[in-house]
Amino acid sequence: PPKQLIVVTPTYNRAFQAYYLNRLAQVLALVPPPVLWIVVEMKSTAAETAGLLRKTGVPFRHLVCNRNMTDVKDRGVHQRNAALDHIQSHQLDGIVYFADDDNIYTLELFHRLREIRRFGTWPVAMLAPSKNKAILEGAICNASQVIGWHTNEKSKKLRRFHVDMSGFAFNSAILWDPKRWKRSTGTPIRQLDSVREGFQETTFIEQLVEDESQMEGILPGCATIMNWHLHLESFKQRYPKGWFLQKDLSAV
Ligand code: UDP
Repeated sequence: PPKQLIVVTPTYNRAFQAYYLNRLAQVLALVPPPVLWIVVEMKSTAAETAGLLRKTGVPFRHLVCNRNMTDVKDRGVHQRNAALDHIQSHQLDGIVYFADDDNIYTLELFHRLREIRRFGTWPVAMLAPSKNKAILEGAICNASQVIGWHTNEKSKKLRRFHVDMSGFAFNSAILWDPKRWKRSTGTPIRQLDSVREGFQETTFIEQLVEDESQMEGILPGCATIMNWHLHLESFKQRYPKGWFLQKDLSAV
């Protein structure tokens, strides 16, 4: 049987929330089952989100995270950890993927996730703010072997693995059965840490795999872009001066 995909999405209320969640839901609805969408909000679940999730037809769990965000660099971190807790405590078997609500995903990406045995990674396209152009971040591969990393941001050069949050997925069993996966530490996992911005992914991945030899480059040669992380919200100038945006554009 096809492997279950466990898609983890932190979300919060802002003008484009309904637009983002609908867009993601519509891709997930096209993915053959079994798919489980874990959507995590802060403090309380919103009725609008619950309504949207019910309408998608995708099996979902709607969770709340009670830990407060104390720093802007922690965007989504505690929510993803709440989902990891849920996956571990219920031993949900599948491929775990952190899919932020605002990214764009191809259907092919979700098909490819099912090929992952242990830990899969691939390059993600993003915009480099200072360079006004699209760049890649993530694996450079020879067939499915990861042999290097695309990285363009000076401040992040010291990272062990140059992977975006939306550029990797892993078998959930690594969370509770490290020995089977030959992880030397042998301790069960673990969470995303609240560390320096840009280092969250590598700090987490270093707990899942020892090195590149335990990674699977997804799609031969990692030569196809399957998702985009464009940070368009940070382009405030996109809105004409004086425009007013409501917090929630799901209803009038
Ligand atoms: N997020 C959240 N609460 C916040 C800020 C962000 O739930 O206060 C979610 C957001 O909906 C997205 C993810 O965390 O799914 C990453 O947020 P963002 O896109 O702002 O971070 P960036 O991609 O710029 O690092």
